[in-house]
Amino acid sequence: MHTITFLGTSAGVPTRTRNVSALALQLENSKEWMLFDCGEGTQHRIMNTSLSAYHLSRIFITHLHGDHVYGLCGLLASKGMQRCESALEIYGPPGLRELLENVMHLSQLNLPFDLKIFEISEGTLLRYEGFKIDVVALSHSIVSFGFVISFDDRPGHFDAEKARSLGIPEGPLFARLKRGESITLPDGSTIEGSTLVGPPTRGKRIVIGGDNDAPLLFAPYAPFDLMIHEATYTQADFDRLPRKFLHTTAKQLSLAAEQMGVDHLILNHISPRYDKNDRISELLDEAKRYFSGKVDIAYDFMQIGV
Ligand SMILES: [Zn+2]
Ligand SMILES: [Zn+2]
Repeated sequence: MHTITFLGTSAGVPTRTRNVSALALQLENSKEWMLFDCGEGTQHRIMNTSLSAYHLSRIFITHLHGDHVYGLCGLLASKGMQRCESALEIYGPPGLRELLENVMHLSQLNLPFDLKIFEISEGTLLRYEGFKIDVVALSHSIVSFGFVISFDDRPGHFDAEKARSLGIPEGPLFARLKRGESITLPDGSTIEGSTLVGPPTRGKRIVIGGDNDAPLLFAPYAPFDLMIHEATYTQADFDRLPRKFLHTTAKQLSLAAEQMGVDHLILNHISPRYDKNDRISELLDEAKRYFSGKVDIAYDFMQIGV
């Protein structure tokens, strides 16, 4: 199972219990992990988990607002101090390169590892071993992206016992059968791999959204096993705001998730007003009114398996 750890779940500014945006995804059976957004203080959050900056291999930035990116330079500098020499890839919107190169130049930050900066755009498809990431353009006051992560299907269970009972020697023939190929034995008989391999397991698909006021922008990629998306306000609070910001309400997100076929919905990027006044349950109640699946409000250090 892959593991998601929430490192920061507050919107805009930190509170006593919530830091600003950051989320870690650690792949199954791997020390390496990926970071999505890096608000100020993220490296302090990382120190309170079993994750190590040393094994951080990729960072994805949804947008360049400070609460999603001001922790980046500090984290890079600390990673550099650990004498980590394997390359680090950073993906984010246009301007990310200028931001990083200016800070690194002005503060004379020289990293011992290769920093590969990739500026992404709508439709960028990133392919890695075992999964792919689609970049989705969102609706916010500056360029903002969401990430749809689709894990590859897993091959079905191979019945090794049955294969042995058919007199097939272990080794290359086993490997070919596992791939579903057919083989011919020395006695001339043919065995189809499909008779020894169970049905494949469907790869999970998850959404990690950036700031956005239109969650249905993810609809072309639906359905989703897990959707992690901002729900900064309840609808009632949003309606009362004298000035509207381009954020999603719990109601709006839940209606969209219901429509898109989401199994598990996690509300994230929570306005500090709910945390400070013990009003978190208002967000959850509103979400449950419009969404029939499993729903949670993210909190710092919350972990879930995918
Ligand atoms: Zn934000
Ligand atoms: Zn923002």
